Amino acid sequence: MIPFNKPYLTGNEGKFIDTAFQKGKFSGNGYFTQKCHTFFEESYDFGRCFLTNSATNALEMAAILCEISEGDEVILPSYTFVSTATPFAMRGAAIVFCDNSKNNPNIDAQQIELLITEKTKAIVIVHYAGMACDMDVIMELANSHGIIVIEDAAHAITSKHKDNYLGSIGHLAALSFHETKNVSCGQGGMLIVNDETFCERAEVVWAKGTNRLDMERGKVSKYEWVDYGSNFYPSEISAALLYAQLEKIDFIQERRKAIWEVYQTALAKLEEKELIELPKQLPYQTNNYHIFYFLCQSNEVRDQLLEYLKTNGALAVFHYLPLHRSPFIEENNPSTKTFPNADKFAERTVRLPLYVDLEIEQVEKISEFVLAFFGV
Ligand SMILES: *Cc1c(COP(=O)(O)O)cnc(C)c1O
Repeated sequence: MIPFNKPYLTGNEGKFIDTAFQKGKFSGNGYFTQKCHTFFEESYDFGRCFLTNSATNALEMAAILCEISEGDEVILPSYTFVSTATPFAMRGAAIVFCDNSKNNPNIDAQQIELLITEKTKAIVIVHYAGMACDMDVIMELANSHGIIVIEDAAHAITSKHKDNYLGSIGHLAALSFHETKNVSCGQGGMLIVNDETFCERAEVVWAKGTNRLDMERGKVSKYEWVDYGSNFYPSEISAALLYAQLEKIDFIQERRKAIWEVYQTALAKLEEKELIELPKQLPYQTNNYHIFYFLCQSNEVRDQLLEYLKTNGALAVFHYLPLHRSPFIEENNPSTKTFPNADKFAERTVRLPLYVDLEIEQVEKISEFVLAFFGV
């Protein structure tokens, strides 16, 4: 069976973890954490970076920094991973869903304005498959209404909107290094603080609500509880693992691109015959080859195709179950609106295996199975 995903190891992970042991400080915010922060700040023009244990954690930090509380509204797409929403729901915000675009799974920027009220505190957007949302419209709208933009850039490492890296545009942003993402350390994430007014509190929230970082700089002689916070640092072992991956990021991206392009070329025939829809790249987007996906013409065909591929030895998957239909929302805040595009992507999306060690012959084989399913 060809798995859907297989974590890639560069070969340097063990060596770097050994170095972390030799440095004698494993608990976090040490040598490798600093190296990762510097790498991101210098390579992608990010603001202050804070490694966390997950993107979910980074979004939880964002919710604390935005001072989300009961009575606030947060706008986000329905077709996304649950972690785009839970950090804000957990702090009492009402989640206001916006439909996804008709032609791609990003938030429909044209519909956001209709959803803004006096209670809107933040907009959380997701760059699906690392393909940028319409950031010109979103930033302009948010800035004119005094609303904070948080980029859920969990898919989006190395990708851009025009000339700007994703994660460098919103007031705050989150990356994920979960094992299924392009660069991974098992579990991991990072908060990016682009709006400097959040920096001082971010240091405190990251350090369990204390001014410990000020003590480490010699600014205060003891550290104490000064704000909300939690234990958001990953250990140095995770940071060492992540740094080994970051060193090889160009190679990782090159391999993913090669695989993605084989699928795209092989399946173009199916699109010509209007059997599937392939993703379209808009002029302001780049592709970081995080996901190879396409849409079937119906939910029945999609499910049959997944079954067919499994029978033939390849594990393809679908995602996401739209959040507006989730048991949590149905119980706590049932939506009276419909989200036809979110439903469409949930019902018809297929994701094919895509990982560094996937051989080109295997990619060709999977493509042939897909063609055979459609009788092409
Ligand atoms: C993976 C993912 C997350 C969560 O990332 P973790 O690091 O696993 O917490 C959040 N949002 C999106 C869109 C994701 O794909």
